Amino acid sequence: MAEPFYSYIIEGLPDTPANLEWLLAHFECKQCGRCCRMHTIGLRITHAEAERFAQRQGVSVQEYVVGLVEDRGTYILPQPCRYLVNDACSVHDIKPSVCRKYPFHQRKPVDSDTAWVVIAGCPGSGDILRLIQNGKQLGLEYRPFSKPE
Ligand code: SF4
Ligand code: SF4
Repeated sequence: MAEPFYSYIIEGLPDTPANLEWLLAHFECKQCGRCCRMHTIGLRITHAEAERFAQRQGVSVQEYVVGLVEDRGTYILPQPCRYLVNDACSVHDIKPSVCRKYPFHQRKPVDSDTAWVVIAGCPGSGDILRLIQNGKQLGLEYRPFSKPE
């Protein structure tokens, strides 16, 4: 049975690349590989990323995307990810942005100005939530978010 989508919106963190760097700098990956088996927010790759994967495999991008679901200008890789080999990423040097940012995700602002979400299914997410909870001087808060986009 699929696990429910569940994450936290981080309040008070402006949507800038510097803030993603701040989040990633305070996040420690536990190397569990869970995000490669069940990414939760979808393994979406851009056209440019599909081109890089196609080039690596020695095929055209048109051949590469055959069978992939196309949605809003992105392609969705099936899960578990085809590039997970022996519990490790086999394309680390060209892995897509959605993987580089995990467990953080930029959500389109609908009911909030803050667009950063942390995926609760990631075992490392508790550390960043504790940091926010304990560091009130950061001016950050988080609240549960349980609806898919
Ligand atoms: S789920 Fe989180 S802790 Fe596990 S490998 Fe992915 S980013 Fe690292
Ligand atoms: S591309 Fe690499 S990091 Fe991203 S889901 Fe696949 S195996 Fe994991």
